[in-house]
Amino acid sequence: MTESVSLGAVSSGHRAAFLGLGAMGTPMAAHLTALLPTLVWNRTAAKAEQHAADYGTQAATLSEVAQADFILTCLPTSAEVDSLIDQLLPDLKSGSVWIDCTSGHPDAARRQAAQLATRGVAFLDAPVSGGPLGAKAGTLSVMVGGAASVIERVRPLLETFGGTVLRVGDVGSGFAVKAINNTLMGLHLLSLAEGLAVLKLQGVDLQPALDILNASSGRSFSSEAKFTQHVLNRKFAANFALGLLAKDAGIALENVQAVKGSAPLLAQTAMLLRAAQHTVGSEIDHTAAVQMVEAWNNVELS
Ligand code: NDP
Repeated sequence: MTESVSLGAVSSGHRAAFLGLGAMGTPMAAHLTALLPTLVWNRTAAKAEQHAADYGTQAATLSEVAQADFILTCLPTSAEVDSLIDQLLPDLKSGSVWIDCTSGHPDAARRQAAQLATRGVAFLDAPVSGGPLGAKAGTLSVMVGGAASVIERVRPLLETFGGTVLRVGDVGSGFAVKAINNTLMGLHLLSLAEGLAVLKLQGVDLQPALDILNASSGRSFSSEAKFTQHVLNRKFAANFALGLLAKDAGIALENVQAVKGSAPLLAQTAMLLRAAQHTVGSEIDHTAAVQMVEAWNNVELS
């Protein structure tokens, strides 16, 4: 077997491993095979076997995964990543890089980076935006926290699934930006639902109202994409769980508190998304959060 030149730079002797084959991880792991042989691990092992059959990856045990040069994770929260780091730590290869694409917590990122450094492993927080469709298309936005030199070494991996890959600061910064991004998305979604509910109560037709908003200054990604594709047609099928969005806004709220910031709109959004999670459901698609606003106004946004 050919020895790789340097564990940091991506070379043909290297192997990647992807842990967490959910809505995002499944297509992201598939893209990695364009660059490197890719091991996959999933809590429900059958999904890893299926992934191997579908995309030419290789289903692996945790001890096999620990020997990879690049380990990527995409799990619900930092808590699940903590657990995997604890399990893999004794077997990790010095010089390898752990890239966490979970929408995690900046404090966890800093703790995890310090823990991995004890084994000579570098850590990057690299959460993504763009949803399962962006992941399939390989056009995700990847917001990366960590040392610039490490990011440049792994950039080819990130670009297999990322259309825009940007360093946003030191370890933890990627998670911080992602939390704000998703809180803004939640704010736009809920405030648009409020606006359209009021318009419906006034007897306005929603589709032309949305069309003209989308040609006006009140538009957003929620108005341009989410309402048309998932709300007005009642499909609610963007494949991003409401519980995960509420988690992200909760992280943003904790970050506001940590720096003693003043962000009442973000705080309100975090609380409203928590309320929606409790009233509409945690596993349901996040676009169904508008059903809480519908109930407040006794209207359906259709
Ligand atoms: P999914 O719910 O689709 O998948 C979750 C994955 O995590 C599955 O592979 C699941 O395994 C695994 N998992 C859950 N609990 C554990 C555990 N205790 N131990 C080990 N593995 C576990 O999530 P998504 O792919 O939607 O989201 C993943 C991350 O990406 C989240 O942080 C989310 O906020 C973020 N994200 C999601 C986007 C989306 O549009 N869906 C967009 C951008 C970011 P199993 O198959 O066994 O259940």
